[in-house]
Amino acid sequence: MVKPAERIQKLPRYLFAEIDKKIQQKLQEGVDVIKLGIGDPDMPTPSYIIERMGEEIKNPGNFRYPPDEGLDEFKEAVANYYRERHGVSLAPSSDVLPLLGSKEGIAHISFSFVDPGDVNLVPDPGYPVYGIGTLFAGGESYKMPLKEENNFLPDLDAIPEEIAQKAKLMFINYPNNPTGAVAPPEYLEKVVHFARKHELLICHDAAYTELAYEGYRPVSLLEIDGAKEVGIEFNSLSKTFNMTGWRIGYVVGAPWAVEVLGRFKTNIDSGLFKAIQYTGVEALTNPQRDRFIAGLQETYRQRRDVVVENLREMGWPLEPPRASFYVWAPVPPGYTSQEFVARLLDETGVVVTPGSGFGQYGEGYFRIALTVDVPRMKEAMERIKKVISFG
Ligand SMILES: *Cc1c(COP(=O)(O)O)cnc(C)c1O
Repeated sequence: MVKPAERIQKLPRYLFAEIDKKIQQKLQEGVDVIKLGIGDPDMPTPSYIIERMGEEIKNPGNFRYPPDEGLDEFKEAVANYYRERHGVSLAPSSDVLPLLGSKEGIAHISFSFVDPGDVNLVPDPGYPVYGIGTLFAGGESYKMPLKEENNFLPDLDAIPEEIAQKAKLMFINYPNNPTGAVAPPEYLEKVVHFARKHELLICHDAAYTELAYEGYRPVSLLEIDGAKEVGIEFNSLSKTFNMTGWRIGYVVGAPWAVEVLGRFKTNIDSGLFKAIQYTGVEALTNPQRDRFIAGLQETYRQRRDVVVENLREMGWPLEPPRASFYVWAPVPPGYTSQEFVARLLDETGVVVTPGSGFGQYGEGYFRIALTVDVPRMKEAMERIKKVISFG
């Protein structure tokens, strides 16, 4: 047996392993487990998108290697979408690059910019890939705590000057997973100012910009003056169009950064299946797009309201999230995140995610994913109500 590389050995312990084992055990016992753990949409990709794939899959022209830099048609569709949705003007050839899902690009941006010993600024709690990509590239994460008293926005003034000077990349993610927080434009302006001052690249993960409620419209980082000089935005069709399994995302923004990531990728992958890129064009440009998204938002809003109303009745101090498909809530006093999640699963068969799985500052919270329908969500809440209250 060959010893795995140090970077593999350094991977943090998989925090959900214990929960996964428990879920398996419950399922074997015949328990009707309700899974509110993983952020993977339960609804199908809309048929207008699937139909396009039905056509593209029959075209032998699509079976060969795609161009490294991505299909012009897809990049133009992304640029049009950014113009319509965000009023942002992008040059398809230099400011847009398709990705094999945004996770891929988020992991590889560190390989493109980070040398051993370099520092990245990483939100905690956060999507694990920011820190793992940094680790794999040999860099170090400086954790920016997301605290409730700061509306789950990193406190830029709390970052020590010498760290800020050293830092290469700053990851942020709004609407946020796992907290459901949103970033007002004034905050993003401060981030852009910070990046200019310290010469670092902002990497904004915008996977949830279309999942917002009651008319709230999350902004793109690129709407901020000067952002395109110091920032890139990762985006994805995964959550917007129920396409997590298709693996299609993209990065937009600072052309100098997009070019470097593209150069890295050319050497390790050969792009996205052309049929998937054409299907992505359909997702982004079909006249049914906005109606589909509006329906999706309404569906998640109803589920969110079931969760928030019920938790409030149980005594939880909670504001409904304005965006994302997560509800982030404190565990009752006296529990760690892991203990609470384990008890919930034991006594109700409901699976939620412990906040500590997203970093040390997630301790004391748990996350509910709004990925079951309203009747099932009500069932989950009824079960919880019978055994647990807040405090
Ligand atoms: C789901 C998610 C993504 C999307 O990942 P893909 O690789 O595009 O499927 C990116 N960032 C966050 C925070 C997410 O939750």
